[in-house]
Amino acid sequence: IHSVKQLEVVNSYAGLPSAFYTRLKPQPPNAPRLLHANPDVAALLGLSPDALREPEFLEVFSGQQALPGGDTLAAAYSGHQFGIWAGQLGDGRAHLLGEVVTPNGNWELQLKGSGRTPYSRMGDGRAVLRSSVREYLAGEAMVGLGIPTTRALALVVSDDPVYRETVETTAIVTRVAPSFVRFGSFEHWSGNPDNLRALLDYVVARYYPECRVGQAGNKEDEAATVLRFLEAVLVRTARMVADWQTAGFCHGVMNTDNMSILGLTIDYGPYGFMDAFRVDHICNHSDTQGRYAWNAQPSVANWNLYRLASALLGLGVEADALKEVLQQYEAVFLEAYRGNLTRKLGLLQWGANDDELLDDWWRLLHNQRADFTLSFRTLARVGSNQDAFLAHFEDRAAALAWLERYKQRLASEDRPEAERVAQMDRANPLYVLRNHLAENAIRAAAKGDAGEIDTLLDLLRDPYTERPGFEAYAAAPPEWASQLEVSCSS
Ligand code: AMP
Ligand code: MG
Ligand code: MG
Repeated sequence: IHSVKQLEVVNSYAGLPSAFYTRLKPQPPNAPRLLHANPDVAALLGLSPDALREPEFLEVFSGQQALPGGDTLAAAYSGHQFGIWAGQLGDGRAHLLGEVVTPNGNWELQLKGSGRTPYSRMGDGRAVLRSSVREYLAGEAMVGLGIPTTRALALVVSDDPVYRETVETTAIVTRVAPSFVRFGSFEHWSGNPDNLRALLDYVVARYYPECRVGQAGNKEDEAATVLRFLEAVLVRTARMVADWQTAGFCHGVMNTDNMSILGLTIDYGPYGFMDAFRVDHICNHSDTQGRYAWNAQPSVANWNLYRLASALLGLGVEADALKEVLQQYEAVFLEAYRGNLTRKLGLLQWGANDDELLDDWWRLLHNQRADFTLSFRTLARVGSNQDAFLAHFEDRAAALAWLERYKQRLASEDRPEAERVAQMDRANPLYVLRNHLAENAIRAAAKGDAGEIDTLLDLLRDPYTERPGFEAYAAAPPEWASQLEVSCSS
């Protein structure tokens, strides 16, 4: 398709009861400019590269024109923020434009930063350029790593001022996902069984058809459907968080309104890929208690699943049955986590003593603040280039002691070296979206230059393959980057 005007657009969310959303138009910023459009995401929608250059593309994704056939709305949801029930939240600065129908399923398009809505509370409905660039890049970084995520199609900028700690400029990101329904969407209706059931039916029919048991209207079948649904969400969530852990990714704000019901990484704010490893690394400067520290993420996801399960209680399902489903979390998480680490450590199978070897690996990295990404990456070649690995550790003796045990473990599997190295290189990325790389892209974007965004998208699309000339993009952060802080301000 060579124009956004030709997209087939529907909006099934608008078919839910009207209390689920407010129909309203986005408010475009003044003199919007298209800073970047992502051809990979465009291709998902069936859009050719020339469609991105048309004036209509900018008109739609700056909020000036409706998507033909769309039904623009802001959705209501609630949530627990930092462990506390926050009540109603909702799309305070986002507008759902509708969903594009493609042979590979439907994709919802959502503007973020497109003006105030009835859910804005004290907010201005805008998003700053800095956080918009970070969100724009993050989804593609996750795709390259094979981690489920929302994505972004377009980044529109304007000179309109936005007031945060300082005066900044505004931007709109067009986010793309099969659905933006959150745990908090269910929590929103926990006291309203009719609406809760409507939401469950909608989500199950569209995204979890395999969870539907028997007939609608039959109480036992409905309870069984709820349990299967919770289990399916639990499995996707646990696997997603396992992927975060083994990529050194910290989400930063795992509130229940930021937990996708599809197990997608959603709502990129003060996220971070770790540079120097700390088990209790906190990426969000606003998270003073470390509620969402790296080592807390798996249990927080579990806690969030309990909040989802509590919301589902209103559907006539026994609390004990829900609890039984929730009990599966640890086993599902550990299986995915160990599976990832089996590949990252170049093993064939997770063995009885590997948890201990792994604990000591994390301890080694933590004690020496070794670089997360490069420690794993260089571990593959300790047979031929041990120095490249040891360079990440100040206490060489401690690193060598662990390495000795690791080499013994490898020897126990009697496997061709080249095969192991190849497996590890496909599991341990060389390029990740480090904060300072995003910062460089932001600084260039502020001058109207999208070149760094292009470079990063290109590298992160295949983060496992080494590219000559891009050594700086693989390196640990330079000195100036130690000053960088990201917070909830966005
Ligand atoms: P977040 O912490 O980004 O998940 O946002 C939590 C809630 O605050 C959501 O309901 C957002 O829509 C809303 N929100 C965040 N920033 C703004 C803003 N600048 N204007 C309006 N609503 C906002
Ligand atoms: Mg949010
Ligand atoms: Mg946010």
